[in-house]
Amino acid sequence: MSRINEIYGTMVFNDAVMKARLPEETYTQLRRSMDEGSRLSQEDAEIIASAMKDWAIEKGVTHFTHWFQPMTNITAEKHDSFLVPDENGGVIMEFSGSELIHGEGGRVIMEFSGKELIQGEPDASSFPSGGLRATFEARGYTAWDPTSYAFIKDGVLCIPTAFCAYGGQALDKKIPLLRSMQALNRQGLRLMKLLGRNDIRSIKVNVGAEQEYFLIDEEMYSKRKDLLYTGRTLFGAKPPKGQELDDHYSGAIKPRVQEFMTELDEELWKLGVLAKTEHNEAAPAQHEIAPYFTSVNIAADHNQIIMELMQRIARKHHLVCLLHEKPFAGVNGSGKHNNWSISTDSGLNLLEPGETPQENAQFLLVLCAVLQAVDNYQDLLRMSVSSAGNDLRLGGNEAPPAVISVFLGDQLTEILKAIENDESYAPGEKEIFKVGVHVLPKFPKDSTDRNRTSPFAFTGNKFEFRMPGSSASISGCNVVLNTAVAESFSQFSDYLEASEKPVQEAIRDLIKKCISEHSKIIFNGNGYGKEWQKEAGARGLLNLPSLADCAPCYLDPKNADLFSRHRIYTPEELNARYLIKLESYCKVIRIEALTMLDMVWKDIFPAASSYSTFLTESAYKKNNAGFEVDSSFEQAVASGISKILSAAFSIAGVLEKNLKEAEKITDPLKAACHYRDYVLSAMNDLRTEADELENCVSAEYWPYPSYGDILFSVN
Ligand code: ADP
Ligand code: MG
Repeated sequence: MSRINEIYGTMVFNDAVMKARLPEETYTQLRRSMDEGSRLSQEDAEIIASAMKDWAIEKGVTHFTHWFQPMTNITAEKHDSFLVPDENGGVIMEFSGSELIHGEGGRVIMEFSGKELIQGEPDASSFPSGGLRATFEARGYTAWDPTSYAFIKDGVLCIPTAFCAYGGQALDKKIPLLRSMQALNRQGLRLMKLLGRNDIRSIKVNVGAEQEYFLIDEEMYSKRKDLLYTGRTLFGAKPPKGQELDDHYSGAIKPRVQEFMTELDEELWKLGVLAKTEHNEAAPAQHEIAPYFTSVNIAADHNQIIMELMQRIARKHHLVCLLHEKPFAGVNGSGKHNNWSISTDSGLNLLEPGETPQENAQFLLVLCAVLQAVDNYQDLLRMSVSSAGNDLRLGGNEAPPAVISVFLGDQLTEILKAIENDESYAPGEKEIFKVGVHVLPKFPKDSTDRNRTSPFAFTGNKFEFRMPGSSASISGCNVVLNTAVAESFSQFSDYLEASEKPVQEAIRDLIKKCISEHSKIIFNGNGYGKEWQKEAGARGLLNLPSLADCAPCYLDPKNADLFSRHRIYTPEELNARYLIKLESYCKVIRIEALTMLDMVWKDIFPAASSYSTFLTESAYKKNNAGFEVDSSFEQAVASGISKILSAAFSIAGVLEKNLKEAEKITDPLKAACHYRDYVLSAMNDLRTEADELENCVSAEYWPYPSYGDILFSVN
């Protein structure tokens, strides 16, 4: 633990550093901006920029970047140098640290102004904007998000930044996230005031995003075109041993993986990211990292940093970190568990069942707000986690189904039922359970978290949303969650304000009403079961298996109203996101289909054909050897291969045709549906045949490492 104390946060321009380095007045203004969202003046920005620059230069940094999250899942950076030519002339475009030390020509000064801190202008025409920014007006504007600390990564000062178009339209994932936090704060405070909680000054969302990933050997990776081009295996017969022995989960960590984890931990600590647990996940070669929870916008930045560092550090250990949601068929996929709670400025967790009847009432009200939010906006939540990759995972092994429901555990569900029906909450208990009068029984924590099949589970004092995919930014789902809960808070406030009853009674009525309207979203059973799909249908819950199914929800007036009302997205911004999601879905599937075709034509078919020729030739030789040798193996396999090859050959033709048709469709939703119905299905058929071939063809002839080679190669 001493090591962590030495290095923790050393690469972060954090609160302590700012307090020490900024004039008191500037620091106070900055804190106000961080806590209350007030604007920073140009003067203060200048002072902060200068202090930030000095701090970075002391650490050997010469470049800075506005680090932002465009509407793709990656983080973008545009490196700029602190170095500018002085008045003696000479333009210095790129200038590295070593050039600085041994610089020829004019003296250079290090310059970094407040203007650059709060406004950079990346030429970002290559980032998707969904039509928000016409290409002739290619500039986007970036502004430092002072609620997230600047940090040094790879020797570059990274300034967490929001990214918008000329007209202020959000071009990134951060701006809507910040807006949704403000909405939740606004509506939450309003509700708390009505509950008599005048002591609460602000309400924020905390998130801890557990991240699953695979680590595989670099050499295996480089031999697989599918992994290289698409991040997942498009072919691969099942290995003789998969995860059925459950011997990987929390098993001993292999030395090479341990070295990777140690380095990852240290690098994360330097950046102020505290990783809590690291253990093997259920699938072979799968692992997990859980950072300690923090304010949601910082958690989103941290998750982005974790993903970047994992990928970079893995390479140093000749490993590759796969963040795809379903890199291997038939083996668990990877997700992100978004642990979500709401807390007050004094650190009170509003999802913590309280000690007193009043606290219980407050807890139950907030719980109901979440139930209502999830029930009313199932479509948006589902959409927020949808992608070509994650659609393959949802509903698969150990992944929650595509139907959204909430797990509360039996005990809490019983209590809600008792409230709804004016009954006692436990057998033997005589008294009717009354909100605001009675204290809740203690919930043993572990009994609330047994169900791993639920997409949205209450785990004692937080909700765990398990649907987000492993490669996604967590911003998207939290924007929906925060906004939908802000909407519940707002409606609850409206109700309480309009009610003429004493507040405690009004709260009771409200909770009862909410339970009876939304208990259909509660499900504590097995989410993997086929029966649940049926029952969910009967309850009227949505089952949206693919992105093409849920994308239209962005155009639904009910959802557009929600986002407009809380000032998260204008209809224009929402439409842009609709287009981007659909376009990227089509693009991903197209690249996968092309990669598959490349693999079958160039490698798989020729390999199967050569092996079949070899078998036929050896059977021929055996048959003509002049003595009795059995060639039935050769003949049988050669004939099997030839049958599969001819089927596969014709499916490849279908895939090509379907792909060509898809490319011609201009309407994005129609195109996405076509990719889903015709391209993906032909891909699945082709895979089935190719995997059959893999089972028949000798390993010597097979062009790619097998699942067994890939999954069991790291030691
Ligand atoms: P689990 O039983 O799922 O392992 P943990 O308590 O270990 O639960 O926490 C898992 C994740 O949830 C961690 O990232 C942790 O920081 C986060 N977490 C814990 N408490 C909260 C909370 N109140 N709000 C948000 N996230 C939380
Ligand atoms: Mg968990």
